[in-house]
Amino acid sequence: LELSLLHASKLEAVGRLTGGIAHDFNNMLGIVIGNLDLLQRTLPPDEKAYRRIQHALDGAQRCAELTSRLLTFSRRSPLQPKVLEFEAFMPGLIKLLERTLGERVSVTLALDEALPPVLVDHAQLEAALINLAVNARDAMPEGGRLDLTVRGRTDVPASGAAPASLVDIAVTDTGTGMPPSVLARVFEPFFTTKEVGKGTGLGLSMVYGFVQQSGGTIAIDSVPDQGTTITITLPARLGEAAGLDDLAEPADAQAV
Ligand code: ADP
Repeated sequence: LELSLLHASKLEAVGRLTGGIAHDFNNMLGIVIGNLDLLQRTLPPDEKAYRRIQHALDGAQRCAELTSRLLTFSRRSPLQPKVLEFEAFMPGLIKLLERTLGERVSVTLALDEALPPVLVDHAQLEAALINLAVNARDAMPEGGRLDLTVRGRTDVPASGAAPASLVDIAVTDTGTGMPPSVLARVFEPFFTTKEVGKGTGLGLSMVYGFVQQSGGTIAIDSVPDQGTTITITLPARLGEAAGLDDLAEPADAQAV
């Protein structure tokens, strides 16, 4: 499913709203955490009040994690794009996924040779792919396969514009798949079909915001009872290949 324009502008509006709220909320949360921390420092650790404050701090910390995901969705969190070589990046990620997903999910990787480098925030891309993988695991309660493929391709626009070099990162699972009614809403913040306490509904909206902010696109192909493929497409940086060293630390990397 490619996002329709209508759907995209709805997400845009939701993003602006949640981004504004999350931003203010985050500032106030900073005041709460800062003062609780100061208060806690005045107490001996064996005091009851110390532990109560610790509970409050833990709760506030979870709120901070939620707002940081909302800020990613609304594209308000700054990215640090750097040149990414897939040959170096993917094997480490696969190991991490194997550890995270457990024995019942078998993870495979197919990597095109001589992929063009992309300019992307490494930590955010890792977080996005972990998100997709954890959703895939949740969709395969009896276990299954998680296949990651990374392929380069050239997109020749019908408009006659210059051809673009792209990299597709596809995450395929053999899980439950999604009916159209779920598929239509997956990128909305707080949309979840999981039990209370199991899902926040912020995973895919965060991935969506990150991919948009990185100049890429995201597409979902899902067949009920067969599985789901989510493909993140990022633009490659062929033109600048000669000056890649300069790109490694872009001075103006901070997006607003
Ligand atoms: P959460 O995982 O907290 O529910 P997400 O935004 O990551 O939030 O996902 C939203 C919903 O999309 C999930 O609750 C689930 O119904 C559906 N979903 C996401 N990924 C998959 C998948 N790989 N297979 C089946 N359903 C999925």
